[in-house]
Amino acid sequence: MKSAPFDYFKPGSVADACARLASESGGAVAIAGGQSLVPLLALRMAPAVTLVDLGGLSALGQFAKTSDGVRIGAGVTHAAIEDGKVPDPSGGLLQRVAGGIAYRSVRNHGTIGGSVALADPAADWPACLLALGATARISGPSGERVEPMEALLVGAYTTSIAAGEIITAFDVPALPTGTRWSYQKVVRKSGAFAMSIGCVIVRPDRAAVVVLGGTTTRAQLLVETATAFGGDEARLRAAIARDLASVQQDADDYVKRLHTATLLKAVREAAG
Ligand SMILES: Cc1cc2nc3c(=O)[nH]c(=O)nc-3n(C[C@H](O)[C@H](O)[C@H](O)COP(=O)(O)OP(=O)(O)OC[C@H]3O[C@@H](n4cnc5c(N)ncnc54)[C@H](O)[C@@H]3O)c2cc1C
Repeated sequence: MKSAPFDYFKPGSVADACARLASESGGAVAIAGGQSLVPLLALRMAPAVTLVDLGGLSALGQFAKTSDGVRIGAGVTHAAIEDGKVPDPSGGLLQRVAGGIAYRSVRNHGTIGGSVALADPAADWPACLLALGATARISGPSGERVEPMEALLVGAYTTSIAAGEIITAFDVPALPTGTRWSYQKVVRKSGAFAMSIGCVIVRPDRAAVVVLGGTTTRAQLLVETATAFGGDEARLRAAIARDLASVQQDADDYVKRLHTATLLKAVREAAG
């Protein structure tokens, strides 16, 4: 199938892009790497009248160290992060996640901003950035706002990004020295989207953050599992079961077992 005809607009600035997206509410759609949007257009599942191409906006392609971590432009590709071009204050987690997305040709074009904006529940960046406590910088017709990942990710393919808004960057805080992490991703075959993602970050004081991805809704913080970190297996399994009952109510026994295995593996690796 081919996409329906559409207009193409190349904005000169972020403000330009937001103005065009706002003026054609419902008809204009931002395009970054096109790795998800182009197939959706071809399947006529994304009815765009005008594509607003963010690819040429230099502001979105930048990255820099900040006083407490790194700012990564929304237009930075998975490949740039995989290749270590972007400072990684997470002790290698960002690089590991980037290198595990799809395959290289997708990573060469796909962007961190496009991935989060699409909010596919099986995508890697939403889970990783949620676990890292990152915040998104969002520009729109009424200026710039900052949104924690927890608030940005609303549900499957749903974010808090309003009409006329685009993500411009992510602020990722540094992990303290001595922090351990594990990122476990279960896929049917190499390069495929995840069926289950477990991301565990353990700080030197043993405070843990646990995130589950590959759910039917969105990446989820698992509070009970994080609290049970360091406990014996029975306690951990019970905590995971309570978390799954709360965040994955529609999961059947197979999916629950899959997520449990992913999370236990991530917890064990992070515990060292
Ligand atoms: C075969 C294949 C396998 C894949 N496997 C994985 C995988 O294992 N893990 C994974 O995480 N992803 C995977 N992906 C998705 C890939 O990571 C895409 O790059 C990503 O989902 C979208 O990024 P993009 O830059 O191509 O965005 P686009 O396709 O251009 O846009 C996607 C959506 O985001 C919106 N958008 C884009 N940029 C912005 C912005 N700055 N602000 C607001 N809205 C924006 C667009 O309007 C569109 O709705 C896979 C894709 C393919 C084709």
